[in-house]
Amino acid sequence: MSPLDEHCVFCKILSGQIPAAKVYEDEETLAFLDIAPFNFGHTLIIPKRHCHGLSDMPQESRDALFRAASLLAPVVLRVTGAAGFNLLMNNGQAAGQEVPHAHLHIIPRFMDDPVLLHAPQKQYSGEEMAQLQEKIRCRLAARQESQEQK
Ligand code: AMP
Repeated sequence: MSPLDEHCVFCKILSGQIPAAKVYEDEETLAFLDIAPFNFGHTLIIPKRHCHGLSDMPQESRDALFRAASLLAPVVLRVTGAAGFNLLMNNGQAAGQEVPHAHLHIIPRFMDDPVLLHAPQKQYSGEEMAQLQEKIRCRLAARQESQEQK
């Protein structure tokens, strides 16, 4: 079975059906320039197998994606003269994901750039923070236990 999805725009880049400004490739990943960059040099890194995001990505792809990001980010920074970068991954439509093929953004940033996320920040009231902390820790422990039993 092909690891690609015929309807996915990033899979079409992988198969060569549509062009991209490729900057890096290894066995598991491909990186190319974003067609509508926040800043010039904005780079996307994708796994070579179709998956939607972090949750359904095979471990090898996950490792390879972050390895490629570690390699590419300093180079993008150097070449663009940026002072910093955002490493961003949108997971799901609610988080702003437009292309449903997992990808990391490397976005070069300059000191006077506008902030990327404009949403106002919230404040916990009373016990809310402690309750949420406990829920996450319990769910994580249960998940780890069930994975150990497999
Ligand atoms: P996201 O909102 O995280 O899904 O980001 C998808 C990104 O893919 C956007 O920044 C788009 O500009 C970019 N994009 C979509 N199609 C292409 C393409 N054919 N080549 C390069 N970048 C693309």
